[in-house]
Amino acid sequence: MSDDAVSRTRKRFIAGAVCPACSEPDKLMMWNEDGVPHRECVACGFTDTLNEQGLSVPKELGTRVNQPAVKAQPVQVQTVQFFPNPKLKKPH
Ligand SMILES: [Zn+2]
Repeated sequence: MSDDAVSRTRKRFIAGAVCPACSEPDKLMMWNEDGVPHRECVACGFTDTLNEQGLSVPKELGTRVNQPAVKAQPVQVQTVQFFPNPKLKKPH
């Protein structure tokens, strides 16, 4: 099973390539999935993909996970609005 996966992805080290994350040379592996080139650094674990222009597209899973928590904050703002705001009722 694992042998079949390896033969499909065919990860290969990129000679002379430098990792954009840790700057270690000759630690980047590259392979294609559905025609999309992927890179992985065996030194620090950095991974990214390349878009049609050949530009690096880092994975942003951590950022997207945090967004739902941010959207929950307006509920707290509505609770605060129930209290009178002395600054608005006392014009200088
Ligand atoms: Zn690295």
